Amino acid sequence: MIEKERFLPIRIQKNHALLKRIAKNHPKRLNIESDQTRRLAGYKGEQAIDFHLSKLPEKEFLIFHDLRLSSGKHFFQIDTLILNSAFVLILEVKNYGGTLYFDPDFNQLIQTNSKGEVKGYPNPIEQTRVQCSEMKKWLLKRNINIPIEFFIIISKPSTILKTAPGHAKMLQRVLHVQFLLKSMEKIKAAHKKEVLSPKDMKKISRSILKEHTPKNFDILKHYEISRSDIQTGVICKVCSSYPMKRHYGTWCCTKCKTKDKSAHITALKDIFLLNNSSPLSNQQICKFLHIPSGDIAKKLLSASKQRCSGSKKGRVYFPNTDYQQIKDLE
Ligand SMILES: [Zn+2]
Repeated sequence: MIEKERFLPIRIQKNHALLKRIAKNHPKRLNIESDQTRRLAGYKGEQAIDFHLSKLPEKEFLIFHDLRLSSGKHFFQIDTLILNSAFVLILEVKNYGGTLYFDPDFNQLIQTNSKGEVKGYPNPIEQTRVQCSEMKKWLLKRNINIPIEFFIIISKPSTILKTAPGHAKMLQRVLHVQFLLKSMEKIKAAHKKEVLSPKDMKKISRSILKEHTPKNFDILKHYEISRSDIQTGVICKVCSSYPMKRHYGTWCCTKCKTKDKSAHITALKDIFLLNNSSPLSNQQICKFLHIPSGDIAKKLLSASKQRCSGSKKGRVYFPNTDYQQIKDLE
């Protein structure tokens, strides 16, 4: 049973908002675009395991996607955690293509892509072992002592896996996505002793969900992009030009003449994503949407039931969307 679904990572949503609103020739654009391509491929890779997990018996396994928990000192992230009455399984999903060589001497992963380009990564086996030990600490703090297993899932069936002669054992934990269920059966056969009752499992599930802490992240600060580089205004969904003009109660595109009453909703989403979801004043929203008067903005915001607090000049607005629960980019 899926206890925590997988949603579109907020970093992807922030990159997307940023790419829409910086100049085509902005010096940081290439950097952001390549980060975005990598993250979208990663998200797609993670989604590739969902089909296989959907075949698991619902009652036996509780599944949590995209977790961020704290073991006390620091946070650790888990792509997928599977809770069973006899064991916990952690899955780390990698969408690397080409040939992967697990180098036992230097403890790193070397990828050679189809063009022959070579790239090094930290050894994911080590990384996931660290996650297992953090999860172990998290569970022990709650007096739960249960075996923890892990797999590195390679989401592309065509990826070739290699290691040095005599080290094949190293790859026992690394598998292509199509072998996930078979390998889970082996894990299940190796752990027959029930540690948790169904009631215990539900209790742990509640704690995990309660303590999951999504990472908030100031994207402008991260890329060192100044606020003045962000192009403001409502964007036309049809031809992408902006700013759309507010005219007789609707938004009009000066280029393709499209009229759209709710075009400001996406612009509001962008400004909240780029402002780290901080509350915004009427004045800030007016400026961003190019609305000439505070009264028009107030009417518009109240018509779209924008969440707010405070009154009169002190009123601030909050995002209407829970960005942690979005599945696709617009
Ligand atoms: Zn247009």
